Amino acid sequence: MKFLGFGRRRGDEPAPEGVQDWSHDSVLPDGTYSSRPLTPGEAARIDLLDQIKAFLIDHALDITPRNLMIAHKIFSGANLRFGDKVAQRQFSGEPITQQWLDETMAEAEDQAEREELAKMVSQLSQSLGSFAQTAREATQATASYNEDMEGHASDMEAMGEAMDDGTSVDIRALTRLTRAMMERTWQVEEDMRRSEREAAALRRKLERARADASIDYLTGLPNRRSFEHVFDEEYRKARAEIDDLTIAICDIDHFKGVNDTHGHDTGDRVIQHVAGLFLQISDQDCHVARHGGEEFVLLFRGVNAETAHARLDKARENFAQRHLVDRETNNPIGCITFSGGVADVFAYDQPREAMRAADKALYMAKRQGRNRIVIAAP
Ligand code: GH3
Ligand code: MG
Ligand code: MG
Repeated sequence: MKFLGFGRRRGDEPAPEGVQDWSHDSVLPDGTYSSRPLTPGEAARIDLLDQIKAFLIDHALDITPRNLMIAHKIFSGANLRFGDKVAQRQFSGEPITQQWLDETMAEAEDQAEREELAKMVSQLSQSLGSFAQTAREATQATASYNEDMEGHASDMEAMGEAMDDGTSVDIRALTRLTRAMMERTWQVEEDMRRSEREAAALRRKLERARADASIDYLTGLPNRRSFEHVFDEEYRKARAEIDDLTIAICDIDHFKGVNDTHGHDTGDRVIQHVAGLFLQISDQDCHVARHGGEEFVLLFRGVNAETAHARLDKARENFAQRHLVDRETNNPIGCITFSGGVADVFAYDQPREAMRAADKALYMAKRQGRNRIVIAAP
């Protein structure tokens, strides 16, 4: 069973079912033997130290505080994106040098920062929304309170006029006090209205800034707008260099069902998880972006439609076999699939036509039963 967005087991987590966790018997880090069996936590910590040690020694990296920190981030799961990049690099058999490590770490930190910022913006937007709502409710409450007070004040005035003994003095004083209170409440009401207007305006500005930015706030991937720039640029370059260019659009299957069954927040995490999957496919010749909702677009440079299809299909097949678990709630989500449409960009007169063709092929994939990738027939 795979945890959402988390492929590595943390030290303090129990071993997956069926896996023995006593991998080190009773050997302590200093090489001595303990008279008692190690607890799972101790064994996991030794495991982490061993992984860090092996990584630095195997790749002939210096034992510096920074390298130790980087290795810790990789093997503790503190920076998953970076961990995946290292795993991919190891798998490809290319060397892990100090330069590669520094560059990749800087990139991963950059990405993490952008994601953090995007999350903050999203939270700020939500708080502004709820503040505007509170201000609106408070304004309404104040208005109806004022209406009641107005009624009471008029009643008291009438009573004060009707009585001609000493009590009327008190009542008049009370009426004056009430009027003063009402005056103050009206002021508060006006302030509330202004705050509400300001919060709403600020929120609109924030939303606009978010749309103008090139990064999608949920996934940290480039958004549609920034993809369009990349598409134009790559189209121009590929045409000049007579290079292949393939575009693919992928869409999560029955995603509405995920939202309906597990809630919008879980739906968001599924989108983030699928974004991570596409990010793994992407490299310097493959750009990926969130096209909107639960839809992603990929552009493969120097790759023909058949090869792009094969790459996507492999990812699709692997992904469809995973059983996802929501890591926030521990609820099983089950298997999620996606469908895709692929088009050879130069089989069409215009890049936008190729995009439409990929979209049409995606529609065909959905019609044919989903969980498949279809190549557009020009
Ligand atoms: P199909 O297999 O035909 O693609 O079915 P579907 O249910 O995936 O497609 P549909 O387009 O009907 O539903 C997509 C849903 O995705 C509707 C929308 O509410 C939801 N959605 C769009 N953006 C987001 C988002 O950012 N977060 C979440 N949680 N849901 C989103
Ligand atoms: Mg869908
Ligand atoms: Mg859709």
